Amino acid sequence: MGDCIFCKILRGEIPSRKVYEDELAYAFHDINPVAPIHILIIPKKHLAGIHEMEEEDRELIGHLFWVARRIAEDLGHSPSQDPTRGYRLVLNSGSLAGQTVFHLHLHLLAGREMSWPPG
Ligand code: 5GP
Ligand code: ZN
Repeated sequence: MGDCIFCKILRGEIPSRKVYEDELAYAFHDINPVAPIHILIIPKKHLAGIHEMEEEDRELIGHLFWVARRIAEDLGHSPSQDPTRGYRLVLNSGSLAGQTVFHLHLHLLAGREMSWPPG
């Protein structure tokens, strides 16, 4: 997708601070972090959001969660390693929900206590 900023990041046209990459997914630090750890996990395939997910994307979306778990563990924020640790995964769908970039992305937030409900 020519104008999509995350596709541009995938093509190397916009720089990013890479955390993880494999054949299906790419993860990088958010440019405007809202927590000490704020990483975005995206599919290499352009999908506008979870609202455009097709049945054939089920494994891909599951893979993004698997990558999130691995990154959280690598950074030492998994409650399975330490019950005082934790992280939040956020996926905004549509502008009403706060989505601003229409290439599906999972936010991985960690390093501070999270409150509920979100804003
Ligand atoms: P959304 O609001 O769509 O769920 O999240 C989009 C996220 O992408 C925001 O947290 C925003 O800071 C981040 N973002 C937008 N443009 C860029 C960019 O060019 N580079 C990086 N690393 N993050 C970006
Ligand atoms: Zn894209």
